[in-house]
Amino acid sequence: MNFLSQLTGSFAQPSAENLTVAMVEAAYRHHDLDWRYINCEVSPERLADAVAGAKAMGWAGFNCSIPHKVAVIELLDGLGESAELMGAVNCVVNRDGKWIGENTDGKGFLGSLQEHVDPAGTRVVMFGAGGAARAIGVELALAGAQHITVVNRGGQRGETLIELLNGKVRRQSRDGFVAEFVQWSGDYSVPPGTDIVINATSIGLYPDVDAQLELNLDSLSDNMIVADVIPNPPKTILLRQAAARGCRVIDGIGMLVNQGVTGIEYWTGIRPEATVMRKTLEDIFSG
Ligand code: NDP
Repeated sequence: MNFLSQLTGSFAQPSAENLTVAMVEAAYRHHDLDWRYINCEVSPERLADAVAGAKAMGWAGFNCSIPHKVAVIELLDGLGESAELMGAVNCVVNRDGKWIGENTDGKGFLGSLQEHVDPAGTRVVMFGAGGAARAIGVELALAGAQHITVVNRGGQRGETLIELLNGKVRRQSRDGFVAEFVQWSGDYSVPPGTDIVINATSIGLYPDVDAQLELNLDSLSDNMIVADVIPNPPKTILLRQAAARGCRVIDGIGMLVNQGVTGIEYWTGIRPEATVMRKTLEDIFSG
């Protein structure tokens, strides 16, 4: 008999609306793993204590979300490749007593995208330049995308992301890879020849579900894939409009599930069943 479960969890503030615990524990149950995922409310002042606690209790690892993704780095022993490039960590893994920071957000998006298309050689238009866009841009470049246009309202964040993509990331990406920045003002027209269009902004996230991207919908054509990072609601206005124009669409649940799949695999060594995790989230979102 063993009454001692392996522990994982999340440190964030706010944390009450974070449904990752439901998705991860559904996977643990499905795979008969005696593991738990504890959703913890942790303020910036107590992050170091929380990390020390996880280390003291021998946790297998933890996610960290807003506002800890950068601050956690100095509390760790090292970083994986993507986290190093992005300068942000959302998943910490205890590897033989060394606490290593990884970033699974972009990998989650990539996993979801790769179910539809290989990004190598593609031309991408991505709206947004925040944390999610940064993670997606880095992984797309590492996966061989040819060209990424970052369209963002704020110039500073947009330029910073372009500097990263055309600097440190370009050295590890496909020959001829280029990222360019377009300041977003008025309806943006997606250039012909674009393969993948991504909303990596928070536009459309619950409860602001009627908010829309400033986008010339007539510039979308049926050979494009349109992806949204918004997990709730899964069928955003953008995805409905794109589907009506014949585009293939990818919702934000796929990204959420796949980043969870990668995290669980890092912690447990088992690649969990994504369909079980997706069903759990769909049941929650459908109320
Ligand atoms: P950030 O706050 O870091 O970035 C937000 C981005 O959205 C910025 O580029 C911002 O532009 C842009 N934006 C917000 N409102 C508007 C608006 N009204 N008009 C134009 N641009 C706008 O957030 P994150 O990158 O961390 O998260 C973005 C979204 O991604 C969230 O909704 C989150 O739920 C989702 N997400 C989904 C994940 C998943 O697994 N499905 C994982 C991680 C995030 P500006 O710079 O001009 O302010």
